[in-house]
Amino acid sequence: MKLQDIFTKAYSEISVDKIVYGRDASELEGSCQAVVWPTHKEQVQHMLKFASKDMHFTIRGAGSNTLGAAVPSQSIVVDMSRMNKILEWGSDFVVVESGLVLGELLTSLEKKRLVFPIKPLELPLCTIGGMIAMNTYGLDTYYGRMENWVEELEVIDGEGNRVKVSGAQLKDFLGAEGITGIILSAKLKLLTEPRQKTVSIFKFNTITSLMDKAIILDKSPNVLAIEYLDDFCSHYLSLGQSLHLLVEYGNDAGVIKDPEEIAKIDELKEKLQHVLINKKYTQKEDPKISIQQHAKFLHWCQKNGVPCFGHMKLGIFHPNFREGSPLQREMHMLVMGLQGEIAGQYGIGRKRKRSVSLDRKVRLQTLKTKYDPKKILNRGILID
Ligand SMILES: Cc1cc2nc3c(=O)[nH]c(=O)nc-3n(C[C@H](O)[C@H](O)[C@H](O)COP(=O)(O)OP(=O)(O)OC[C@H]3O[C@@H](n4cnc5c(N)ncnc54)[C@H](O)[C@@H]3O)c2cc1C
Repeated sequence: MKLQDIFTKAYSEISVDKIVYGRDASELEGSCQAVVWPTHKEQVQHMLKFASKDMHFTIRGAGSNTLGAAVPSQSIVVDMSRMNKILEWGSDFVVVESGLVLGELLTSLEKKRLVFPIKPLELPLCTIGGMIAMNTYGLDTYYGRMENWVEELEVIDGEGNRVKVSGAQLKDFLGAEGITGIILSAKLKLLTEPRQKTVSIFKFNTITSLMDKAIILDKSPNVLAIEYLDDFCSHYLSLGQSLHLLVEYGNDAGVIKDPEEIAKIDELKEKLQHVLINKKYTQKEDPKISIQQHAKFLHWCQKNGVPCFGHMKLGIFHPNFREGSPLQREMHMLVMGLQGEIAGQYGIGRKRKRSVSLDRKVRLQTLKTKYDPKKILNRGILID
C-alpha cells in the first residue's frame, strides 16, 4: 500500500514538515518519516488495514501535551486536525470529529447556550481527540476528567477495524494516549448551564494551620474545590505574600457570590501559569498525594523555595521548577516515599514511562494485544 495513493496531496515527506512534526510541546525531538492529514474515516481505516510491516504511526492532535505523547519514533505522523467537523447536535450532547479544537467547539456551544465544562489551560488550541487520549482535566477540576463527559466513541483500531465504543469499554481508549486506536469522533455530554458556585479565600501563616482548615473543608459535601496557593503564587496574584486556600462551594456558603467577581478569580487561576513561565519556572509537575501526606510535601516545597499551587480535593499539586533543577528529581523521590503518584494529571507520554505502575503496565499491554497486536500505533508512548 502506498500512502500517497490514499492521501494524494495530503501527504508530505518534505523536510520542513518532518522537522515540525518531529516535536510537540515537550522538548523531545523524534524522527518523523512522513505526515498525512486525513479528512475522511475511510482514509484512516484503509491506512491501518493495509499498512505494510515496516509502517508505524504516531497520532497527533494539536501537539500541546508536554510529555512527548505525540513525538514520533521513525514513524508516520497522522495529523487529525482536518477531521474537525461537528457532526450532530442534541439538547444535551454533541457529536464531533476528533480533530476539532476545543476553542471552536466552545464558540459554537456559546451560540446554542450550551456548556462543555472541561477547559484545560491551552483551551483554544487542543483537540477533542487529544483531550480524550490524555483524559484531560480542565481548570475547574470538580467537573472531573474527560471520562465523565464522553458517552460514545468511534475508533479505528490497529488492525483497521472500525469500532463503536460505549459503556465500560470507553476505559480502553480514555487516557490510553493513542496506543489502542485512532479516535475518529466522540459523542460528548453537555450542560445547559455551568454549575453555580460561590467562593471564599482564606489566608494562613503556616502550613499546619492551613492543613487544619483543609481537612475540615475536604469533609464538607458542599465544597467543590480547594485550591492551594503558596506565598510565591499568592504574591503574584496580588493576594499578599501568605499561604492561601481558594475554596469553591456548590451552594451559597462562599463569601464571594457575585458572578463577575468569581469570573475574575477564575482568570487569576489562568494567569498563574503564565506568571510562572515568565519567571522561568518552565517545568510544571503534577504529583498526586494522599491528604495525610500533604503537609510533608508542602513543607518540602516551602523549605526548598519551590513555587507550588494545587488542587487539594484531588490531591494533585503543581510544584514548578527551573530547567535542569536537581530539586525536580528530589521531589520525585519524595513523592514515591510518600506513596504518591508522580504523574497525577498530565499523563505519561515518552517522558514518564518509568512511573507507570506494574499493574497498569500489565493492563495496558493486554489492551495493546487486543486492539493493536502488530504494535503499529504510538510506538514508545505510554509503554514500550
Ligand atoms: C501551557 C499548557 C497548559 C496545559 N494545561 C493542561 C491542563 O490544564 N490540564 C491537562 O490535563 N492538560 C494540560 N496541558 C496538556 C495538553 O494541553 C493536554 O494534554 C491536551 O489534551 C492535549 O491535546 P492535543 O490536541 O494537543 O493532543 P496532542 O498533544 O497532539 O496529543 C496528545 C496524545 O493524544 C493522542 N491523540 C491525539 N489525537 C488523537 C486521536 N484522534 N486518536 C487517538 N489518539 C490521539 C496523541 O497520540 C498523544 O498521545 C497543558 C499543556 C500546556 C502546554
